[in-house]
Amino acid sequence: MVIFQLGQAIGVKCSISTASVLLRVAKPRFGGANKIKIFAWRAFNYIIPCAVQLQNHKLQVSNWCQRCGMGPETIEHALRDCIVASEVWMGSALGIWFSSQRRGPFQDFCMEACLSLKLDNLEIFVMIIWAIWFARNKKVFSNHALKTKEVLDVAGRTMSSYQACWRGTEIIPTKHPVDRSKRWIPPKPGELKMNVDASFRADSNQVGIGCIVRDSTGCVIACCSNIVCGCSDPLTAEALAMREGLDFVNQLGLQIQEIETDSSSIADFCSKEVDLYGHEIGLLLQEIKNRLNSNMVCCFIPRECNRAAHFLAVSVFQRDPFFFGKDAIPVWIKPVVFADLIQ
Ligand SMILES: [Zn+2]
Repeated sequence: MVIFQLGQAIGVKCSISTASVLLRVAKPRFGGANKIKIFAWRAFNYIIPCAVQLQNHKLQVSNWCQRCGMGPETIEHALRDCIVASEVWMGSALGIWFSSQRRGPFQDFCMEACLSLKLDNLEIFVMIIWAIWFARNKKVFSNHALKTKEVLDVAGRTMSSYQACWRGTEIIPTKHPVDRSKRWIPPKPGELKMNVDASFRADSNQVGIGCIVRDSTGCVIACCSNIVCGCSDPLTAEALAMREGLDFVNQLGLQIQEIETDSSSIADFCSKEVDLYGHEIGLLLQEIKNRLNSNMVCCFIPRECNRAAHFLAVSVFQRDPFFFGKDAIPVWIKPVVFADLIQ
């Protein structure tokens, strides 16, 4: 009953964008281990039923941690700060890393893991938070307290079965094999990369434009989304996205070294000498050329590597257009940036 009510609460609170990001993350990285990747995503989005969350949803439960009895069971407490949880962290392969990462909101904790851990360790990270939650439920629902080593064994066994499953997907060819190389790559240290994308609506001749600037740690420096009306085709839409993106970074005075688009035509126009005379969108392409400078490299990348910009371009039809600099990055961008880093 409690779970059902919480599910309803989540259903109301979970935005379309969060749900779509969850589905996207649910695909490649954790192979067949759906329960783990979905749990990790729920934890990141503060939608797992720890005691404080339940109380926030008006359920008549104590908000106190039932394992240590030393404080309210927030997500941070349940998965990181509780003495029982931190013993698991400290006993794991990530103990040294964990000892310097114990503060702040859970989302920042996850983001820090994405930025500072290698992919293999990131898998361990996700597996540990899942095992800690598994042990927490054993205690709360069956009053059975697992020892630290038992929790780590649960994490290890689940990890092995997941890895076996992952190997299976590599051996058996699938219709759409997952390409692990298809992910967003950060720029070199000290440089900035801008990703732009367009979402064209033929029925209304509108184009949603998304632009995001990140540094070598994956940190968002600026981002924007906008709607332009009167656009008649996808190529014009991609060109508009590039022009708007260049205007945006110029307005902010950002020095961009790399620009990525998932339109190969636009990347070609930007990076090669092309005769624009007589081209149907020649004037627009000339405007883009005028805004590019010799320090910028413009590249084509597949859609899978351009998810954050695509997300901004699509979501502008559900939200108001916005322009944000470093001090005001909207919270709802974080999940897609997180997804870019973990996959
Ligand atoms: Zn506790």
